[in-house]
Amino acid sequence: MTETAAVAEVNANEALAAATGGNGDAAADGPKFTLELNQDQKDIKEWVHGFAAGVVRPAAEEWDEREETPWPVIQEAAKIGLYSFEAVGQFWADETGLTLPIANEELFWGDAGIGMAIMGTTLAVAAIFGQGTPEQMGEWIPQCFGTPDDVKVAAFCASEPDAGSDVSAIRTNAKYDEAKDEWVINGQKAWATNGGIANVHVVIASVDRELGSRGHAAFVIPPGTPGCEQGAKVKKHGLRASHTSDVHLDDCRVPGSCLLGGKEKLDERLARVREGKKAKSQAAMQTFEASRPTVGAQALGIARAAYEYSLDYAKERRQFGKAIIENQSIAFDLANMKLEIDAARLLVWRAAWMGRTGQKFENAEGSMSKLKAGEVAVWVTERAIQILGGNGYTREFPVERMHRDSKIYTIFEGTSEIQRLVISRAISGVHVK
Ligand SMILES: Cc1cc2nc3c(=O)[nH]c(=O)nc-3n(C[C@H](O)[C@H](O)[C@H](O)COP(=O)(O)OP(=O)(O)OC[C@H]3O[C@@H](n4cnc5c(N)ncnc54)[C@H](O)[C@@H]3O)c2cc1C
Repeated sequence: MTETAAVAEVNANEALAAATGGNGDAAADGPKFTLELNQDQKDIKEWVHGFAAGVVRPAAEEWDEREETPWPVIQEAAKIGLYSFEAVGQFWADETGLTLPIANEELFWGDAGIGMAIMGTTLAVAAIFGQGTPEQMGEWIPQCFGTPDDVKVAAFCASEPDAGSDVSAIRTNAKYDEAKDEWVINGQKAWATNGGIANVHVVIASVDRELGSRGHAAFVIPPGTPGCEQGAKVKKHGLRASHTSDVHLDDCRVPGSCLLGGKEKLDERLARVREGKKAKSQAAMQTFEASRPTVGAQALGIARAAYEYSLDYAKERRQFGKAIIENQSIAFDLANMKLEIDAARLLVWRAAWMGRTGQKFENAEGSMSKLKAGEVAVWVTERAIQILGGNGYTREFPVERMHRDSKIYTIFEGTSEIQRLVISRAISGVHVK
């Protein structure tokens, strides 16, 4: 996941806030922060947990080994309405901001690879929802999900071989062919979740390289468009049930209507930037912050699963005539695991609440939440392996997979280093490099 996806997701939040009558003053007039979940939140938590426990978990090992998209599981999710725009919209709509992280934590508690196979589509959906016109949303969002009988996935393609953390270095370009009212897109995308197998691809391309990231625009590539091909499928350390691939764009022509937001809006924005007027990039920096708690919540789901598994194991496993949890070193590890998970969740919930209620991220609280949750997940899952000993290191036990899955959370949606960069700049006002 990338920062551009993050912006898209936040824009989507804002669009939804506007649609539901929410506004930036919600913090003053709207729902107050509480740690007590309301009935809707409890119901959604239970619903997603039920699916995670009953369908996702039993399938986790198989799809990790197969390293393939678990289409039957996505279809099951579609049948119960969990894999649908309605469900994602419902999670977003919660005015407290907590439902989205709660749902993500539960699903990824079931399994992160399958969780990403289900949630990966939402990156593209968020971009369309955040940047598209109502007509574009109506046309493309249903095609991202397909139907329960014919499920589809979508991909969001921003990263490139030479543009990961540095999104401004994107080389993929889009040129407007006025005579045909078409955009011609050329470039190579890297590490795209669902890349090449997606029905709908959303591609970030530069329309004016001199403007760096302010010269970027998002395009929908309709299903089956010539010139949009899957490149190499990436073999991964973890999240192996989620398909990751390069995407090649060779003279890929899309109708003018595929530019998200439309040409008029793009031209206006570019004119502002070229005149040296302050574009909304500072606002965007703020908004990057708001999608990160969702990703942090996914990491929390993995951490919680590993913690619970190792706690049970430590009570059962006997060595030297007693349960291993009776050794302080094991018990203290488990205490620290629980402590870190709960601390990370509070950061995630705080940032989710701030993002949804329009609070300013003065200290990069969104980055803090994702950074902490990602690092906690890596640490907790490593400790879980230690507690399981030899068993923990084998593929017979799930904590090994959880550890592999957790590692991506210190890499995508901004690496841990980039999060520290964002936080240190926010707290100091110094342009730390
Ligand atoms: C499984 C997976 C799924 C993904 N899904 C998507 C997707 O759906 N769509 C998409 O567009 N992208 C996706 N990505 C790409 C992902 O967002 C990038 O990998 C990520 O942004 C990091 O970029 P990079 O890999 O180029 O690392 P680099 O930017 O090359 O970073 C390498 C190292 O240098 C460090 N570093 C870089 N700059 C600085 C700095 N200024 N200060 C300190 N340290 C620095 C980094 O922290 C890191 O440790 C995915 C990646 C993976 C592995």
